[in-house]
Amino acid sequence: MKKIVIASKNSDKVKEMRLVLSNLPIEVLSLADFADLPDALEDGTTFEANALIKARFFHERTGLACLADDSGLEVDALGGLPGVYSARFAGYHADDLTNNQKLLDELKKVGVKESAAAYRCALAFIDTDGTELLTQGKIEGKIKTVAQGNGGFGYDPYFYIDDERTMAQLSTDEKNLISHRGKALREMVAKLKEMFS
Ligand code: IMP
Repeated sequence: MKKIVIASKNSDKVKEMRLVLSNLPIEVLSLADFADLPDALEDGTTFEANALIKARFFHERTGLACLADDSGLEVDALGGLPGVYSARFAGYHADDLTNNQKLLDELKKVGVKESAAAYRCALAFIDTDGTELLTQGKIEGKIKTVAQGNGGFGYDPYFYIDDERTMAQLSTDEKNLISHRGKALREMVAKLKEMFS
């Protein structure tokens, strides 16, 4: 069976991606299955560039077909930040807690309690023969300074999909149906199905 490695150490992301990929006749691995792999230098200025950087980097190091995601939050009131800096908004050793605190601090600085926002995701796949595929997904919503829910990860407790619910109040299945990553993944799965058939 063909093996694909998901180029992520984020177990929440891997969980979301595995669920959508489970329809394909492939064995799905993640970076957790490989000891001592270094981190890729994500120095691209777009989600697409960073997804390609990661896919190429881990394809070269594992010798396997590789699927990489780069995603983040764009907040209108912050001029599109944190954008490609979403994972390290609060600094190099940031985690969800410090990133969310930084988000609240930045919103306070510009004097707003809510703002239009969007999650965006780029997915890059590179096959063992070097063939590359790229897909994208986006979900628009609102960032508010009141957190709700314990599901999801990252900025989800502050990302409102409608007037009442945040992304953190959805199950993984529900989130995948509407999320930026779910959309990019379904488009990628369609392309992969075509490629493997
Ligand atoms: P990446 O792993 O370099 O792509 O960084 C993605 C970062 O964007 C994560 O660490 C989160 O902070 C944020 N992010 C991306 N997708 C989501 C999501 O679905 N929910 C919440 N935060 C997300």
